[in-house]
Amino acid sequence: MEEDQHGDSLKFRIDVDIHNLLMHSSPEPVKSPVSKGMTLPEPIFPRYPEKLSDPGPSVIPENRDWRWPEVYRKMRGWLFPYIRSRVLPGDFHPITSYLFVEYKCNLDCWYCWAYNNKVKGMTDDIARRSIDWLYDHGCRVLALMGGEPLLRPQFAHKVVYYAAKKGFWIYIGTNGRLLRPEVADRLGDAGVSVFNFAVDAWDEKPRSSEIVTVLMNTLSSSTDASHASTPAIRTRPRPKPGGTSTSLET
Ligand code: SF4
Repeated sequence: MEEDQHGDSLKFRIDVDIHNLLMHSSPEPVKSPVSKGMTLPEPIFPRYPEKLSDPGPSVIPENRDWRWPEVYRKMRGWLFPYIRSRVLPGDFHPITSYLFVEYKCNLDCWYCWAYNNKVKGMTDDIARRSIDWLYDHGCRVLALMGGEPLLRPQFAHKVVYYAAKKGFWIYIGTNGRLLRPEVADRLGDAGVSVFNFAVDAWDEKPRSSEIVTVLMNTLSSSTDASHASTPAIRTRPRPKPGGTSTSLET
């Protein structure tokens, strides 16, 4: 069995080569980029007070009512960026960008290499410069990733607010444990289109930490009638053995 320099067993890491590359790619600690002093604006909340007080349907409909605004919003997430990437001149047109705002996580899934909680989270300066750079290169779809991007909910709120104001369609990949009602309300109000939850077991099992029943407990308090900005939860197969992905659309 291979051991790393700290004596930890590596056999549980799915891809040992990538693990080694991440852990040992540089003999020196990676230098942080020099700050240019950019900041993200403080979000205005609420932007849509009428939506916060809208109780929504008392029963979640069996089928979504696909009217033009919903269709248009969906198309902003994939069809428009794809078409733009095909018709614009030049050869660099990012369709979806992933902004890794954290490498820390509140869970420790056995297959994940985002377990080094010494890595500092993204700064305002880097987030703003990244979003501006992506915008200038025509990208309009932004995913907040981690680690767990909701470890710093105020920071996530600022990133979403700034990016949404620039016209980005935004989704957040999260384990959902920190999606409290007030956090969901703020992020939905700022402009998140989809929360994407990774789950790997229905109820608690040894070595599983992304648990559906735990997630549903958190979400049921995020989707009750008094927090109607997050009305629909859907599940679909995820291309990972034994796992599913659950989307919650704002
Ligand atoms: S919740 Fe996601 S980021 Fe956190 S340890 Fe699990 S797979 Fe990694």
